[in-house]
Amino acid sequence: MSRKSYLYHHHTWPELGEVAKKKPVVVLPIGSVEDHGHHLPLDTDNFLIWSICEEAAKRAGGDILLMPLIPYGFETHHMDFTGTIDVRIEHLLNFVLDITKSVAHHGFERIIIADGHGSNMPILELVARRTILETEALCGAFIWPSLALKEIREVRESGRGGMAHAGEPETSVYLHLASEKVQFDKAKKDINLPNSEFMWLDLTDGAPIHLMDHWTRFSKTGVHGDPTLATPEKGKVIYEAVVNAFVRLVKEFKNRPRGERTDYHKESPQV
Ligand SMILES: [Zn+2]
Repeated sequence: MSRKSYLYHHHTWPELGEVAKKKPVVVLPIGSVEDHGHHLPLDTDNFLIWSICEEAAKRAGGDILLMPLIPYGFETHHMDFTGTIDVRIEHLLNFVLDITKSVAHHGFERIIIADGHGSNMPILELVARRTILETEALCGAFIWPSLALKEIREVRESGRGGMAHAGEPETSVYLHLASEKVQFDKAKKDINLPNSEFMWLDLTDGAPIHLMDHWTRFSKTGVHGDPTLATPEKGKVIYEAVVNAFVRLVKEFKNRPRGERTDYHKESPQV
């Protein structure tokens, strides 16, 4: 395999010092090893987020420096399903924070954590905040469907709850990228949370309250959503929209201005 200039780990250490001077956005992908129903493999979150990150890096003209993927996430609520690997909240927070702080230590000033697994997000938001407050870098985190809400809402056919886990978008994008790994004949609709005005699960239609229980209390398949509505055509639309938005995001983030901090203990306010 030839060396790829957009991959962090394909450079030597002196080369990486030169790359840092160009101030690319460092992208840290994270997924999980987790049940995704009877039709998708355990690698779904890892495969989708890595594919999105690598395609965006190829299209970003040197503005993305892509790190190795963190393949495990926070999964305590999925442990009833065989094969799931759980990294507990405090471990994941400290582990990812150690990585972003290392990156900032080497002089990179813009870091994006690209997430493929919804339940990592509250932890990654805290990692991003702490990275900003404890280093010289700006850091943000996203879960990939949030980059293309408009386009996903235009193609989705499922109602509320159809796009939570192993449902319409994840199955569509997997069909688009690698249909040979999808056992589509085994896909089943499973949306069985109690009806509520305030509490539901949907990646593109966030609820006011995110109530997260052990999943086998409300899903016997490991799905919460409607994968039967997935198609490779929808997957292509969603994938392209997410990748294009990601490229726009890094180009904006790379040049995002940052105001000067002032310590008013030492300096009087200018009124
Ligand atoms: Zn997933």
